Amino acid sequence: MLIVMHHTATDEQIRTVTRAVEAMGLRAEPIPGSERTAIGVLGNQGYVDDTSIRDLPGIREVIHVSKPYKLVSRDFHPESSVVEAGGVRFGDGQPPVIIAGPCSIESEAQMLAAASLVKAAGAGMLRGGAFKPRTGPHSFQGLGIEGLRYLRQAGDSVDLPVITEVMRIEQLDTVCQYADVLQIGARNMQNFDLLKEAGKAGHPILLKRGMSATIEEFLSAAEYLLAEGNPRIILCERGIRTFERTTRNTLDLSVVPLIRELSHLPIVVDPSHATGRRTLVRPMAKAALVVGAHGIMVEVHPDPDQALCDGAQSLTGSDFACLMQDLQDLQKVIGCTV
Ligand code: PEP
Ligand code: MN
Repeated sequence: MLIVMHHTATDEQIRTVTRAVEAMGLRAEPIPGSERTAIGVLGNQGYVDDTSIRDLPGIREVIHVSKPYKLVSRDFHPESSVVEAGGVRFGDGQPPVIIAGPCSIESEAQMLAAASLVKAAGAGMLRGGAFKPRTGPHSFQGLGIEGLRYLRQAGDSVDLPVITEVMRIEQLDTVCQYADVLQIGARNMQNFDLLKEAGKAGHPILLKRGMSATIEEFLSAAEYLLAEGNPRIILCERGIRTFERTTRNTLDLSVVPLIRELSHLPIVVDPSHATGRRTLVRPMAKAALVVGAHGIMVEVHPDPDQALCDGAQSLTGSDFACLMQDLQDLQKVIGCTV
Protein backbone atom coordinates (compact mmCIF):
# COMPACT_ATOMS: atom_id res chain seq x y z
CA MET A 1 0.00 0.00 0.00
CA LEU A 2 1.15 3.52 -0.75
CA ILE A 3 -0.19 6.52 1.13
CA VAL A 4 0.20 9.72 -0.84
CA MET A 5 0.12 12.84 1.35
CA HIS A 6 -1.17 16.25 0.25
CA HIS A 7 1.59 18.65 -0.72
CA THR A 8 0.45 20.80 2.21
CA ALA A 9 0.71 17.92 4.74
CA THR A 10 2.66 18.84 7.86
CA ASP A 11 5.48 16.80 9.40
CA GLU A 12 3.17 16.05 12.33
CA GLN A 13 0.49 14.67 9.97
CA ILE A 14 3.09 12.48 8.29
CA ARG A 15 4.26 11.23 11.70
CA THR A 16 0.66 10.48 12.75
CA VAL A 17 0.09 8.39 9.61
CA THR A 18 3.40 6.59 10.13
CA ARG A 19 2.43 5.73 13.72
CA ALA A 20 -1.01 4.50 12.60
CA VAL A 21 0.64 2.17 10.08
CA GLU A 22 3.08 0.87 12.69
CA ALA A 23 0.20 0.31 15.11
CA MET A 24 -1.15 -2.18 12.54
CA GLY A 25 2.11 -4.13 12.85
CA LEU A 26 3.37 -2.90 9.47
CA ARG A 27 6.46 -0.93 8.40
CA ALA A 28 6.05 2.64 7.18
CA GLU A 29 8.68 4.07 4.87
CA PRO A 30 8.35 7.81 4.12
CA ILE A 31 9.37 8.54 0.51
CA PRO A 32 9.93 12.29 0.11
CA GLY A 33 9.20 13.51 -3.44
CA SER A 34 9.80 16.82 -5.12
CA GLU A 35 6.16 17.85 -4.66
CA ARG A 36 4.76 15.68 -1.89
CA THR A 37 5.68 12.91 0.51
CA ALA A 38 4.37 9.40 0.09
CA ILE A 39 4.49 6.69 2.75
CA GLY A 40 5.20 3.18 1.58
CA VAL A 41 3.62 0.41 3.65
CA LEU A 42 5.67 -2.77 3.84
CA GLY A 43 5.34 -6.09 5.58
CA ASN A 44 1.74 -6.94 4.69
CA GLN A 45 0.97 -10.46 3.49
CA GLY A 46 -2.08 -9.51 1.43
CA TYR A 47 -4.63 -6.71 1.07
CA VAL A 48 -4.36 -4.11 3.84
CA ASP A 49 -7.62 -2.96 5.45
CA ASP A 50 -7.11 0.82 5.40
CA THR A 51 -10.22 1.88 7.36
CA SER A 52 -8.23 3.12 10.36
CA ILE A 53 -5.95 5.19 8.15
CA ARG A 54 -7.63 6.56 5.08
CA ASP A 55 -9.43 9.48 6.78
CA LEU A 56 -6.44 10.80 8.73
CA PRO A 57 -5.69 14.47 8.01
CA GLY A 58 -3.13 15.24 5.31
CA ILE A 59 -3.78 12.09 3.24
CA ARG A 60 -4.52 12.69 -0.43
CA GLU A 61 -4.84 9.11 -1.68
CA VAL A 62 -4.34 5.52 -0.58
CA ILE A 63 -3.13 3.24 -3.36
CA HIS A 64 -3.21 -0.53 -2.97
CA VAL A 65 -0.13 -1.98 -4.64
CA SER A 66 -0.54 -5.63 -5.46
CA LYS A 67 2.94 -6.19 -6.94
CA PRO A 68 5.30 -8.35 -4.86
CA TYR A 69 8.03 -5.74 -5.34
CA LYS A 70 7.35 -2.32 -3.93
CA LEU A 71 10.53 -0.37 -3.22
CA VAL A 72 11.75 -0.92 -6.79
CA SER A 73 8.41 0.00 -8.34
CA ARG A 74 7.35 3.31 -9.79
CA ASP A 75 4.21 3.13 -7.63
CA PHE A 76 6.38 3.72 -4.58
CA HIS A 77 8.97 5.90 -6.31
CA PRO A 78 7.56 7.69 -9.36
CA GLU A 79 10.74 9.61 -10.18
CA SER A 80 13.54 7.80 -12.01
CA SER A 81 16.57 7.12 -9.82
CA VAL A 82 20.01 8.20 -10.88
CA VAL A 83 22.49 5.78 -9.32
CA GLU A 84 26.01 6.98 -8.60
CA ALA A 85 28.48 4.12 -8.74
CA GLY A 86 32.24 4.53 -8.67
CA GLY A 87 31.94 8.20 -9.60
CA VAL A 88 29.76 7.60 -12.68
CA ARG A 89 26.03 8.07 -12.86
CA PHE A 90 23.49 5.66 -14.34
CA GLY A 91 19.99 6.87 -15.15
CA ASP A 92 17.72 9.18 -17.06
CA GLY A 93 19.38 12.31 -18.37
CA GLN A 94 22.87 10.84 -17.94
CA PRO A 95 25.15 9.75 -20.77
CA PRO A 96 24.99 5.93 -21.14
CA VAL A 97 27.78 4.29 -19.15
CA ILE A 98 29.89 1.81 -21.10
CA ILE A 99 31.34 -0.92 -18.87
CA ALA A 100 34.02 -2.92 -20.67
CA GLY A 101 36.78 -5.40 -19.97
CA PRO A 102 37.53 -9.09 -20.10
CA CYS A 103 35.27 -11.85 -18.88
CA SER A 104 37.99 -13.05 -16.49
CA ILE A 105 41.05 -11.45 -14.99
CA GLU A 106 43.86 -13.69 -16.26
CA SER A 107 47.09 -11.86 -15.44
CA GLU A 108 48.45 -8.46 -14.50
CA ALA A 109 49.59 -7.80 -18.08
CA GLN A 110 46.25 -8.84 -19.61
CA MET A 111 44.33 -6.58 -17.23
CA LEU A 112 46.60 -3.57 -17.77
CA ALA A 113 46.33 -4.01 -21.56
CA ALA A 114 42.55 -4.37 -21.40
CA ALA A 115 42.25 -1.31 -19.17
CA SER A 116 44.28 0.91 -21.45
CA LEU A 117 42.43 -0.10 -24.60
CA VAL A 118 38.94 0.28 -23.14
CA LYS A 119 39.89 3.62 -21.60
CA ALA A 120 41.36 4.86 -24.90
CA ALA A 121 38.09 4.03 -26.67
CA GLY A 122 36.03 5.90 -24.06
CA ALA A 123 34.66 3.29 -21.60
CA GLY A 124 33.43 4.64 -18.27
CA MET A 125 34.02 1.56 -16.11
CA LEU A 126 36.34 -1.46 -16.18
CA ARG A 127 35.05 -5.01 -15.67
CA GLY A 128 36.78 -8.30 -14.98
CA GLY A 129 35.84 -11.44 -13.07
CA ALA A 130 38.03 -12.79 -10.27
CA PHE A 131 35.51 -15.33 -8.97
CA LYS A 132 33.99 -17.00 -12.01
CA PRO A 133 30.74 -18.97 -12.04
CA ARG A 134 31.69 -21.66 -14.57
CA THR A 135 29.35 -24.35 -15.81
CA GLY A 136 31.96 -27.09 -15.36
CA PRO A 137 34.42 -27.56 -12.50
CA HIS A 138 37.38 -28.16 -14.85
CA SER A 139 37.11 -24.73 -16.49
CA PHE A 140 39.19 -21.77 -15.30
CA GLN A 141 37.60 -20.59 -12.04
CA GLY A 142 39.28 -17.17 -11.82
CA LEU A 143 42.31 -15.86 -9.96
CA GLY A 144 40.42 -14.92 -6.80
CA ILE A 145 42.05 -12.26 -4.60
CA GLU A 146 45.13 -12.07 -6.82
CA GLY A 147 42.77 -11.14 -9.66
CA LEU A 148 41.07 -8.47 -7.55
CA ARG A 149 44.47 -6.85 -7.05
CA TYR A 150 45.17 -6.80 -10.79
CA LEU A 151 41.73 -5.36 -11.48
CA ARG A 152 42.17 -2.53 -8.96
CA GLN A 153 45.66 -1.79 -10.19
CA ALA A 154 44.49 -1.73 -13.83
CA GLY A 155 41.52 0.52 -13.02
CA ASP A 156 43.76 2.92 -11.11
CA SER A 157 46.31 2.95 -13.92
CA VAL A 158 43.75 4.48 -16.30
CA ASP A 159 41.56 6.18 -13.71
CA LEU A 160 38.48 3.99 -14.26
CA PRO A 161 36.19 2.62 -11.54
CA VAL A 162 36.00 -1.18 -11.43
CA ILE A 163 33.21 -3.75 -11.16
CA THR A 164 33.53 -7.45 -10.39
CA GLU A 165 31.30 -10.35 -9.45
CA VAL A 166 30.78 -11.58 -5.92
CA MET A 167 29.52 -15.16 -5.71
CA ARG A 168 29.44 -15.91 -2.00
CA ILE A 169 28.69 -14.06 1.24
CA GLU A 170 32.20 -14.82 2.53
CA GLN A 171 33.71 -12.95 -0.43
CA LEU A 172 31.77 -9.74 0.22
CA ASP A 173 34.25 -7.96 2.51
CA THR A 174 37.19 -8.65 0.25
CA VAL A 175 35.41 -7.73 -2.97
CA CYS A 176 34.21 -4.49 -1.34
CA GLN A 177 37.83 -3.63 -0.49
CA TYR A 178 38.91 -3.82 -4.14
CA ALA A 179 35.85 -2.97 -6.24
CA ASP A 180 33.79 0.18 -6.66
CA VAL A 181 30.71 -1.76 -7.76
CA LEU A 182 29.60 -5.31 -6.92
CA GLN A 183 28.15 -7.53 -9.61
CA ILE A 184 25.66 -10.24 -8.74
CA GLY A 185 25.56 -12.64 -11.65
CA ALA A 186 22.70 -14.36 -13.43
CA ARG A 187 23.29 -17.62 -11.56
CA ASN A 188 23.03 -15.91 -8.19
CA MET A 189 20.08 -13.64 -8.93
CA GLN A 190 17.93 -15.71 -6.61
CA ASN A 191 20.58 -16.50 -4.01
CA PHE A 192 18.49 -14.73 -1.40
CA ASP A 193 21.03 -14.99 1.41
CA LEU A 194 23.68 -13.39 -0.81
CA LEU A 195 21.22 -10.66 -1.85
CA LYS A 196 20.43 -9.83 1.79
CA GLU A 197 24.07 -9.57 2.81
CA ALA A 198 25.11 -7.73 -0.37
CA GLY A 199 22.29 -5.25 0.23
CA LYS A 200 23.78 -4.49 3.65
CA ALA A 201 27.31 -4.00 2.32
CA GLY A 202 26.65 -0.43 1.21
CA HIS A 203 28.39 -0.73 -2.18
CA PRO A 204 26.46 -0.04 -5.39
CA ILE A 205 25.34 -3.29 -7.03
CA LEU A 206 24.74 -4.32 -10.61
CA LEU A 207 22.19 -7.15 -10.54
CA LYS A 208 22.04 -9.37 -13.61
CA ARG A 209 18.81 -11.04 -14.66
CA GLY A 210 18.78 -14.78 -14.08
CA MET A 211 18.76 -16.78 -17.29
CA SER A 212 15.25 -18.06 -16.65
CA ALA A 213 13.93 -15.26 -14.46
CA THR A 214 10.66 -13.54 -15.20
CA ILE A 215 10.50 -9.76 -14.90
CA GLU A 216 8.63 -10.18 -11.63
CA GLU A 217 11.34 -12.47 -10.25
CA PHE A 218 14.05 -10.09 -11.46
CA LEU A 219 12.46 -7.07 -9.81
CA SER A 220 11.71 -9.08 -6.66
CA ALA A 221 15.42 -9.95 -6.44
CA ALA A 222 16.24 -6.24 -6.66
CA GLU A 223 13.63 -5.67 -3.95
CA TYR A 224 15.78 -7.77 -1.58
CA LEU A 225 18.66 -5.34 -2.08
CA LEU A 226 16.53 -2.23 -1.58
CA ALA A 227 14.82 -3.80 1.42
CA GLU A 228 18.24 -3.88 3.12
CA GLY A 229 18.47 -0.12 2.68
CA ASN A 230 20.67 -0.02 -0.42
CA PRO A 231 19.16 2.30 -3.05
CA ARG A 232 22.17 2.13 -5.41
CA ILE A 233 21.04 -0.74 -7.63
CA ILE A 234 21.54 -1.05 -11.38
CA LEU A 235 19.65 -3.77 -13.26
CA CYS A 236 21.24 -5.66 -16.14
CA GLU A 237 19.49 -7.62 -18.90
CA ARG A 238 21.90 -10.30 -20.19
CA GLY A 239 19.68 -12.58 -22.24
CA ILE A 240 17.44 -15.45 -21.24
CA ARG A 241 17.46 -19.15 -22.07
CA THR A 242 15.09 -20.06 -24.88
CA PHE A 243 14.81 -22.96 -27.35
CA GLU A 244 17.23 -21.16 -29.68
CA ARG A 245 20.78 -22.49 -29.47
CA THR A 246 22.42 -20.58 -32.34
CA THR A 247 22.91 -17.74 -29.92
CA ARG A 248 24.06 -18.37 -26.35
CA ASN A 249 20.94 -16.72 -24.94
CA THR A 250 18.11 -14.64 -26.38
CA LEU A 251 18.42 -10.94 -25.72
CA ASP A 252 15.09 -9.80 -24.32
CA LEU A 253 15.33 -6.16 -25.36
CA SER A 254 11.71 -5.39 -24.61
CA VAL A 255 12.53 -5.52 -20.90
CA VAL A 256 14.39 -2.23 -21.21
CA PRO A 257 11.36 -0.04 -21.93
CA LEU A 258 9.20 -2.37 -19.81
CA ILE A 259 11.41 -2.08 -16.75
CA ARG A 260 11.61 1.66 -17.29
CA GLU A 261 7.81 1.65 -16.99
CA LEU A 262 7.67 -0.59 -13.93
CA SER A 263 10.72 0.55 -11.98
CA HIS A 264 12.64 3.71 -11.21
CA LEU A 265 15.97 1.85 -11.25
CA PRO A 266 18.43 2.24 -14.13
CA ILE A 267 18.90 -0.70 -16.49
CA VAL A 268 21.89 -1.65 -18.63
CA VAL A 269 22.27 -4.36 -21.27
CA ASP A 270 25.02 -6.96 -21.67
CA PRO A 271 25.00 -7.95 -25.36
CA SER A 272 28.06 -10.23 -24.88
CA HIS A 273 26.47 -12.90 -22.67
CA ALA A 274 23.12 -12.30 -24.39
CA THR A 275 24.41 -13.39 -27.80
CA GLY A 276 27.64 -15.30 -27.17
CA ARG A 277 28.86 -14.20 -30.61
CA ARG A 278 31.31 -11.40 -31.27
CA THR A 279 29.64 -10.32 -34.50
CA LEU A 280 26.30 -9.76 -32.78
CA VAL A 281 27.60 -7.64 -29.92
CA ARG A 282 27.90 -4.40 -31.88
CA PRO A 283 24.42 -4.36 -33.44
CA MET A 284 22.73 -5.44 -30.20
CA ALA A 285 24.64 -2.84 -28.16
CA LYS A 286 23.35 -0.17 -30.51
CA ALA A 287 19.83 -1.57 -30.32
CA ALA A 288 20.01 -1.48 -26.53
CA LEU A 289 20.76 2.24 -26.51
CA VAL A 290 17.96 2.90 -28.98
CA VAL A 291 15.40 1.25 -26.69
CA GLY A 292 16.57 3.28 -23.71
CA ALA A 293 19.31 1.35 -21.86
CA HIS A 294 21.26 3.49 -19.40
CA GLY A 295 24.47 1.69 -20.28
CA ILE A 296 26.11 -1.31 -21.88
CA MET A 297 28.33 -3.99 -20.37
CA VAL A 298 30.58 -5.55 -22.96
CA GLU A 299 33.42 -8.08 -22.88
CA VAL A 300 36.67 -6.87 -24.43
CA HIS A 301 39.95 -8.82 -24.44
CA PRO A 302 43.39 -7.81 -25.77
CA ASP A 303 43.61 -11.22 -27.50
CA PRO A 304 40.17 -12.90 -27.52
CA ASP A 305 41.39 -16.07 -29.25
CA GLN A 306 43.60 -16.79 -26.23
CA ALA A 307 40.97 -15.83 -23.62
CA LEU A 308 40.50 -18.31 -20.76
CA CYS A 309 36.78 -17.59 -20.72
CA ASP A 310 34.20 -16.32 -23.25
CA GLY A 311 36.65 -15.52 -26.07
CA ALA A 312 33.99 -16.15 -28.74
CA GLN A 313 31.91 -13.24 -27.48
CA SER A 314 34.79 -10.90 -26.58
CA LEU A 315 35.62 -7.92 -28.75
CA THR A 316 39.16 -7.00 -29.69
CA GLY A 317 40.38 -3.51 -28.84
CA SER A 318 39.75 -2.33 -32.38
CA ASP A 319 36.25 -3.92 -32.50
CA PHE A 320 35.49 -2.08 -29.29
CA ALA A 321 36.80 1.23 -30.64
CA CYS A 322 34.48 0.80 -33.67
CA LEU A 323 31.56 0.04 -31.37
CA MET A 324 32.28 3.18 -29.34
CA GLN A 325 32.40 5.22 -32.54
CA ASP A 326 29.01 3.77 -33.55
CA LEU A 327 27.58 4.66 -30.16
CA GLN A 328 28.90 8.23 -30.46
CA ASP A 329 27.24 8.53 -33.89
CA LEU A 330 24.03 7.08 -32.52
CA GLN A 331 23.79 9.74 -29.83
CA LYS A 332 23.40 12.39 -32.51
CA VAL A 333 20.23 10.61 -33.62
CA ILE A 334 18.74 9.52 -30.30
CA GLY A 335 19.91 12.48 -28.26
CA CYS A 336 21.99 10.87 -25.54
CA THR A 337 25.71 11.28 -24.98
CA VAL A 338 28.14 8.38 -24.74
C1 PEP B 1 29.81 -12.04 -16.23
O1 PEP B 1 29.34 -10.93 -16.53
O2 PEP B 1 31.00 -12.25 -16.02
C2 PEP B 1 28.89 -13.20 -16.14
C3 PEP B 1 29.30 -14.37 -15.64
O3 PEP B 1 27.67 -12.94 -16.60
P1 PEP B 1 26.25 -13.66 -16.27
O4 PEP B 1 26.15 -13.70 -14.78
O5 PEP B 1 25.27 -12.74 -16.91
O6 PEP B 1 26.30 -15.00 -16.92
MN1 MN C 1 31.78 -13.84 -19.51
